[in-house]
Amino acid sequence: MGLLRPDFVLFVCLFAMLAGVIAFNRITRTHKAYLAFQFVLMLWPFGQFSAKTTELLEFKLFYLKLSFAAIGLLGPGWLFFVLVLTQLSAQLNARKAVLYLIPAAVTVAAMIWNPGNEFLNLAPNSDEVRYGYLFWMLVLVQLCYLSITLILMFHAFRQVRSVHQRKQLGLALIGMFVMSGFTVMDLLVNVLLNKWLPVVPGLTSAGILLSCCCFTVAVYRYGLSDTLSLAQRDIIEHMPIGILIVDEHGKVLAANKAASPFVQTRKGDVFSMESFLAPLQPQGEVKEFLYRYRYHPEERIQTELSLPDAAGRYISMQISPVAGPMKSVLGRVVTFHEVTELRKLIDEMNRKNEALHERNLELITVQEELFRVNQKLEQMAITDGLTGCYNRRFLMQQLEHEVLLNIRYRIPFSIFLFDIDHFKQINDTYGHLVGDEVICRTADAVRSVLRRSDILARYGGEEFTVYLPHTNAEQAETLAARIMQTIADNAVDAGDRQVKITVSMGVVTEEPSEGREDIKEYLRELFYRADKALYEAKHQGRNRVVASSSL
Ligand code: GH3
Ligand code: MG
Ligand code: MG
Repeated sequence: MGLLRPDFVLFVCLFAMLAGVIAFNRITRTHKAYLAFQFVLMLWPFGQFSAKTTELLEFKLFYLKLSFAAIGLLGPGWLFFVLVLTQLSAQLNARKAVLYLIPAAVTVAAMIWNPGNEFLNLAPNSDEVRYGYLFWMLVLVQLCYLSITLILMFHAFRQVRSVHQRKQLGLALIGMFVMSGFTVMDLLVNVLLNKWLPVVPGLTSAGILLSCCCFTVAVYRYGLSDTLSLAQRDIIEHMPIGILIVDEHGKVLAANKAASPFVQTRKGDVFSMESFLAPLQPQGEVKEFLYRYRYHPEERIQTELSLPDAAGRYISMQISPVAGPMKSVLGRVVTFHEVTELRKLIDEMNRKNEALHERNLELITVQEELFRVNQKLEQMAITDGLTGCYNRRFLMQQLEHEVLLNIRYRIPFSIFLFDIDHFKQINDTYGHLVGDEVICRTADAVRSVLRRSDILARYGGEEFTVYLPHTNAEQAETLAARIMQTIADNAVDAGDRQVKITVSMGVVTEEPSEGREDIKEYLRELFYRADKALYEAKHQGRNRVVASSSL
């Protein structure tokens, strides 16, 4: 029956709970703190129960001391657990930890030593325990630890904005109150007022169990123990993208491995975007980025930066808000993504594009040049180099087309063929250069009296021909007379003298009708007649016009 004592049952419950937490959870930092804490707590019911199972005074004393040692370690245990829970443990170093432990260690040592039975005194053959001043010292020290822990928790509770963490801290706080309440009750009922009140066993143990329930829920439900968040943490930790999670004051809550090449910061530090961007201020976009980071925390912003290191790295930096209830911003996720390779590729591509563009421009210039040369060549192919008139070949090509239309629509047309009289003499008298000049000026003079639709061409050395569309015999006669007059009036400078020339001209006028299929043959015949008329003009004494129709 002894085994069914409340202390023993509570010990078994606590042990089962501890085993459960270990079995169903991956061990995190919070869990480790919790396990150590609960292990210490379990020693109390274990010691209390074991003390009842033996009649031997030494064993009884040992077990009782064991359970009081647990109580003695409860204070610092609490303190460390709360430090982990509130993430203040990041600022804890070995020296501080030892300092926090000293008061508890001293009281526990004094309790184990128990000089003059001043901690507890067991009456032989009786369950009665008398407590001395060392016992009260232990109680006092524990109360001090409890007060400090409570202040810390209240402080942390006020600062924490995350609903999740608030609930976690709230539950741990309830757990502490429950345990303290039960322990104080145990102290009152079973120690201070034990003369007047019946003994109520297992009060402190019950408090420990209830508070452990609270702690377990706090760790399990609101902690980081679920598989999803562990998986998320794993993913974040091993991502090739640097991730920094900061709260709304810039305090670092988490930073993964990949973030370390960009920012050297640890959990608990304050990440200052200003200091991070300070060496990059000259980059134009940085100011705008910093402004948005400072004054628009709710915005998702992104920029690309060139790091001022020798490697010439480029990073893409993105800031995303962690939204809380009512559109509040609980923190930010800062990501760093190295894009050097991408940047190099883009730069290379831009460079190639630019080179291509330049080549294109060059090509366009060459094309334009080619076009101009072609135009010139085309012009040269159809014109005469000396006079700028059309050449005979071009005239013949045009005539093939024109005459065809004239035949089809019965349009009258005329052809003049004229030759400068005694030109050989001009050459002989004034030289070839003057001869050339005379040829040119004659062409200009003739051109000046022609209509736009007429075609003047150089037929040979000093022979010219004019094609006159829509021109009957009468009109041709008038025009020929005008040309003769113009040439006669035209004087060319030859040093101190002026050279005047005359021409002889043969005129052919046609009012074509159907039946001339062979255009080339028709043209040959036309020029033969014109040439004959010209010959006749020469023969009749030069400086005259002879119409082919008069022959
Ligand atoms: P006509 O026609 O009245 O019978 O006498 P002509 O002296 O003009 O005789 P012909 O037509 O036979 O001679 C033409 C001369 O014109 C022969 C040639 O040396 C000269 N000539 C031909 N082409 C050019 C040229 O481009 N420039 C110069 N300066 N002389 C040319
Ligand atoms: Mg001639
Ligand atoms: Mg001549």
